[in-house]
Amino acid sequence: MRDPGDIDIQFVKSVGEKRGKVLKEHGIETLEDLFYYFPRRHLDRSVVKPIHQLREGEEVTVVGKIVSCRVQKGRKERFVALITDGTGFLQCVWFQGLTFWKRIFQPQMTFAFHGKIGYYKGLQLVHPDYDRIEEGGDWNTLNTGAIIPLYTSTEKLSSVGLDSRGFRRLIRKALELYRDQIRDPLPETLLQKLRLLPLPEAIVKIHFPRDLKELEAARRRLKFDEFFFLQLLLALRRRHYHDEQQGLPFRDVGQKTRELIQEKLPFQLTEAQSRVLRDIWNDLKSPHPMNRLVQGDVGSGKTVVALVAMLMAVENGYQAALMAPTEILAEQHYINMHRLLEDLGVNVALLVGGQKKKQRERVMADIMTGAAHIVIGTHALIQPEVKFRNLGLVVVDEQHRFGVLQRGALQEKGRQPHVLVMTATPIPRTLSMALYGDLDVSVIDELPAGRKPIRTVWRPSHKRREIYDFLRYELLQGTQAYIVFPLVEESEKVDLRAATETYERVRNGFFKEFNVGLLHGRMSPEEKEAVMQQFKSGQMQLLIATTVIEVGVDVPNASIMIIENAERFGLTQLHQLRGRVGRGEKESLCILICDTPLSPEAKMRIDTLCQTNDGFRIAEVDMQLRGPGEYLGVRQHGMPDFKLADLVRDADILELARQEAFEIAQKNNILLQQILKNARRFKFVQRFYERMDFAQIS
Ligand code: ADP
Ligand code: MG
Repeated sequence: MRDPGDIDIQFVKSVGEKRGKVLKEHGIETLEDLFYYFPRRHLDRSVVKPIHQLREGEEVTVVGKIVSCRVQKGRKERFVALITDGTGFLQCVWFQGLTFWKRIFQPQMTFAFHGKIGYYKGLQLVHPDYDRIEEGGDWNTLNTGAIIPLYTSTEKLSSVGLDSRGFRRLIRKALELYRDQIRDPLPETLLQKLRLLPLPEAIVKIHFPRDLKELEAARRRLKFDEFFFLQLLLALRRRHYHDEQQGLPFRDVGQKTRELIQEKLPFQLTEAQSRVLRDIWNDLKSPHPMNRLVQGDVGSGKTVVALVAMLMAVENGYQAALMAPTEILAEQHYINMHRLLEDLGVNVALLVGGQKKKQRERVMADIMTGAAHIVIGTHALIQPEVKFRNLGLVVVDEQHRFGVLQRGALQEKGRQPHVLVMTATPIPRTLSMALYGDLDVSVIDELPAGRKPIRTVWRPSHKRREIYDFLRYELLQGTQAYIVFPLVEESEKVDLRAATETYERVRNGFFKEFNVGLLHGRMSPEEKEAVMQQFKSGQMQLLIATTVIEVGVDVPNASIMIIENAERFGLTQLHQLRGRVGRGEKESLCILICDTPLSPEAKMRIDTLCQTNDGFRIAEVDMQLRGPGEYLGVRQHGMPDFKLADLVRDADILELARQEAFEIAQKNNILLQQILKNARRFKFVQRFYERMDFAQIS
């Protein structure tokens, strides 16, 4: 018996060569792909509204027979189909592609239309979503309570008869003929334990459910699969790291590390920092490589954790490298770490793109000979010319800013080095489970003592004058402040101009008695450093900047941040930016200046920010607003696109899938091998595994 994944779509009954070709162009290459071509939604009889009950402005589904079609000339040509369902008449209107609509809609045909009711000389639907309904068959079954699947189609698919109705027929037929060829990769015991539908049944029911309950059960099973096969892969990878791969076991926490923690640091580690360091040390001394993610909100103190871990590596005879996403951040790390480690006889080196050739060559030589114990840099670190003598620990700061491949490339510079990745972008639990299921996760869930929450307010831009007056008053009291301008890629020049112009204007005008600085990404490393030093030392009171300061700027005395055009920033980015203040003893204030009126989504972002300082809460909202794919650029992480599953809404199914996958990977190797073998028969699983293998998460 052949698996649906091995049956070319062209040889499926009632497909043939011509349709086969078009289907393949749409990614439907095998019978399996057809089975997994899920309806985009279902038409449920209970939601169909009689025409005589329609009201302007509501979003509805209407089912009706076409009475007449005509092209209406005029200033704006339109195609109008008049429909009736026996209770009244409704116009459906299209403005473009008239010839296309003429072909699609003909009198006597029955369609389901979906859209928002408008009004123009009578109620109408403009450019509604539509699906052809079988007059006899479909509609009658509908009357007996069935639910009709609606499929996405294209003009090209329609031209070979595969509109929504065509797909319905084709898939119904294919299921009748071949459903027995669907073999479930999951054993029955597991299905029973988790109360999941068998796969053949789930596939039939996602297309043709008898009621919404059946549909839900089918969706649950198929969503489970999407998560489960991914988690299984992650579980395997984790097992590989933990149990199979040889690492570089460290022997002792050395004297210098103790000295750093007990004497050199100007503060005591928080409980959370100590706990995370214990996790890290346990990994480092084990015979397998560490593969750990440290999560912590902005300002929670991840840098020092990385520093201690790197010093442990050095004292065990290895080099350590830290990669940061921006030069400013790398330079700040370098300056701080160099200062703390100099007396301990530990050499810290900096490698960034903006360095002069000679300087860079010297650093590279030191890296090669091992004279550089700790190397801090940007992605300049992963150039092929950079060779380490014996790299034992790799730290990636703000890891979400890097592609997976860049991370891998740094790792390759050593032989199974330990890996520590750090992120300040709080990742909601579900997402981190899906993305980093193979990593161990430690969370710094506590801010250093004495931090006061940042008060955040928003003001419309026409109040700017008052805000600047207030800022002036505060600067006179000795406060330091930031004004930040958004930097959106497409319009980098424009935004740069906004920052530069404001700088030019205010430093000789409104804020002329203060020392005002400008910071943006196009400045040379020396220029940036000079500005940073002045601001840090307190010589400079006001810093006007683009989003380059989003990471790596740490000036505790700065306690006011004004963000211009805040409505243009993403939620997480605003939170990161805001994290530049609230680092000292003084209560901090963040003022978001927005152009009004705000869109509902912008309003939601701004309100959330004003209401909470909790990075995880903010991340949840951000993910809901943008969708998990957008959030963090999931694609970049090598995550498959789920067809059905949603990382936000289906968190419970994800949890279930993860638990089950990890348990099986740990305890039941025979079952694991069997499931994997079965699963690999599925094309969709193969594709998604190929992709995951390519884009290694680690
Ligand atoms: P992030 O987690 O955002 O990278 P940083 O590591 O930059 O945070 O730390 C933010 C600030 O908090 C720095 O000024 C750092 O020196 C300080 N800091 C870190 N740990 C502590 C602590 N345990 N007590 C007091 N201050 C701390
Ligand atoms: Mg940091």
